[in-house]
Amino acid sequence: MTLPLVSSPHYSFGFPERHRFPMRKFELLLEHLQKQGIATKQNTYRPGKARQDLLELAHCPEYLTRFISGQLSDKEVRRMGLPWSTDLVKRTLIAPNGTLLTAGLALRHGLACHLAGGTHHAHHDFASGYCILNDLAIASLALLAQSKVQRVLIFDCDVHQGDGTAAILQNVPEITTCSIHCEKNFPHRKAKSDIDVDLPKGVSDQEYLQIVDHTLDRALDISRPDLVIFDAGVDVYEHDPLGMLNISSDGIRAREAMVIKNVRSLNIPLATVIGGGYDKDQSALARRHAMVVEEAHRYQNQVS
Ligand SMILES: [Zn+2]
Repeated sequence: MTLPLVSSPHYSFGFPERHRFPMRKFELLLEHLQKQGIATKQNTYRPGKARQDLLELAHCPEYLTRFISGQLSDKEVRRMGLPWSTDLVKRTLIAPNGTLLTAGLALRHGLACHLAGGTHHAHHDFASGYCILNDLAIASLALLAQSKVQRVLIFDCDVHQGDGTAAILQNVPEITTCSIHCEKNFPHRKAKSDIDVDLPKGVSDQEYLQIVDHTLDRALDISRPDLVIFDAGVDVYEHDPLGMLNISSDGIRAREAMVIKNVRSLNIPLATVIGGGYDKDQSALARRHAMVVEEAHRYQNQVS
């Protein structure tokens, strides 16, 4: 079985080069996977824009309208952290559908990877920290509403807490939110996930991998999910400018391999999203984001 991948040519668009957000990483990631033969025309799916009713499962209609029509206040745009443009709107409306498509493919094929997604700081009615719409919440609420799953685990290993996801889903017992993040990092006011693991600054590979392993076990045990959505943020990397942890490239690859193996060996469908990563060297960053897809590809080839 080839591994289904999801990407859109609209994910990267003309963007101020000096901006801290690495908007080119999405196309560089797809190119890197194409070069290795992991992404081909046959296994790469292209999502369209999400319908409004889907977005309203997690977001305030009035907020959606104001974002789409460019009516956010200066203060709201500052909190979003990205300059508003029609291209930004387009990619933002596609990405949640990308995560939903990936989750659907995972339910059908066992394992699927979105080459974007993980915008976990997006709240019900405001954007924050480069996150505008919460694809993790939207996709899991949509699958629940469509009765395609009974229970979902969102396993978030981005270095920042998944505060938007936790807040949006706080009263949804069918969806378990789990965030392993650096305590001292953004957001400074944390929300309450079902499981939060606050890591001190500077944690390194061995300790980190043990914590991820143990926490995943605990989360699977509590959630008993029909689907796991894994946010494989690579801003845990030792040299990530927004990181504060001390995780090596090998450590990240070991994390991806471990999560994939632990979930899939229980035969639970697994959808991955890329999450955060802010290295100024966007090619190196794309190679780091590729690790979760490479490890999924490797796992798929081992078992089939
Ligand atoms: Zn992050």
